[in-house]
Amino acid sequence: MINSFIKPIFKLNRSITGQGTLDTLKFIKKQFKLLNIKKIKSGTKVFDWKIPKVWKIFDAYILDDQGKKIIDFKISNLHIINYSKKISKWFYFKDIKKNIYFLKRLPSAIPYVTSYYKRNWGFCLSYNDYKKIDHSKKYFFKIDSKFEDGYLNYGEALIKGKSKKEILLSTYVCHPSMANDELSGPAVLTYLANWLSKKKRNFSYRIIFVPETIGSISYISKNYTNIMKNCFGGYNFSCVGDRGNISFIKSKYNNTFIDFVSEYVLKKNKIPFKNHSYMDRGSDERQYCSQGVNLGLNTIMRTKFNDFKEYHTSLDDLNFINEKSLKHSLKVSKLLISYIENSYFPMSKIICEPFMTKRNLYTSINFIKENKDRGILDVLNYCDGNNNIDQIVNYTNINKNKVLSHVNRLKKLKIIK
Ligand code: ZN
Repeated sequence: MINSFIKPIFKLNRSITGQGTLDTLKFIKKQFKLLNIKKIKSGTKVFDWKIPKVWKIFDAYILDDQGKKIIDFKISNLHIINYSKKISKWFYFKDIKKNIYFLKRLPSAIPYVTSYYKRNWGFCLSYNDYKKIDHSKKYFFKIDSKFEDGYLNYGEALIKGKSKKEILLSTYVCHPSMANDELSGPAVLTYLANWLSKKKRNFSYRIIFVPETIGSISYISKNYTNIMKNCFGGYNFSCVGDRGNISFIKSKYNNTFIDFVSEYVLKKNKIPFKNHSYMDRGSDERQYCSQGVNLGLNTIMRTKFNDFKEYHTSLDDLNFINEKSLKHSLKVSKLLISYIENSYFPMSKIICEPFMTKRNLYTSINFIKENKDRGILDVLNYCDGNNNIDQIVNYTNINKNKVLSHVNRLKKLKIIK
């Protein structure tokens, strides 16, 4: 995946809008033919937000007083605050402290900084480069950029299954020149989407590649009715290429089908994993599980964003990720999906308890001692259409074979479907 997917598009200048993101989507479409690239016009209102103008950047650098480039956007697009406005001026470094970003704790790293919604400009450099600055001299700061009306692009595909119920699989395409916290998610999701589309599935799958935050908000806003009607949970993919173990950000109440699936499947396959609370959220699960949406999905990662020191710096590069981890993340994703596909959700056709006596399922004499075996009623109570067999086993504490035999009996009696 590193050579076929991540390397070729690593250096594209991605942002929440613009050519780098569009080129990334076009590249994904080449690998996953079902993808449709969609667009939303700048200025469009999406819930409480507005699609911003498109950021175009042509060149950016810092010159010393001999005319030598000491920082060059063409060497790394992380050198510029993403969405920087234009500047063309001589300054002493001490006079523009607020426009210069470096990390003392990681002296060789260029930090990744953005300012999408408030016009600003700035340069990001390694502390090692910063230390070389001669503070008695002026430097020339040039950013050749502009903002214009255009579109926010995102990619979407619907893989239609037997059921209209959809599993939402989402990732983001807005970070420039970083590997784990950017291209690992799209790489794994693209491979997963191709695998999913190889045969007819039980569920339908909605695959989306969006700029983080504004993209997922736009997507939810444009598709709200369908999402609320058909979405049965799903996964957001982030940071799935590093050497750490698999981890999840659970949904807000940690009580959804997907919350159950994540833990059940990893435990069953003896794959080490870690859960993070929704209070530690940071990627698009923020939108998918937000108030008024509550899709109950999980974010799947290896090491959580922000928990590795290379996070949002130039050190999150091709050496930070590895093929084995990417393939393992893909394998785990397939295990999760296969489990979802094979889940069966019995649903009662009757509201309240059915009249068991007429079906010979319950003693007609209501005497304390004789009402011991209500297992079939326990099982039926959990046949809400949202719980699969393993969840019913968990809730009722009845062993799986017994639950299955109750379910079969209830099916024969036409009480559940
Ligand atoms: Zn990030």
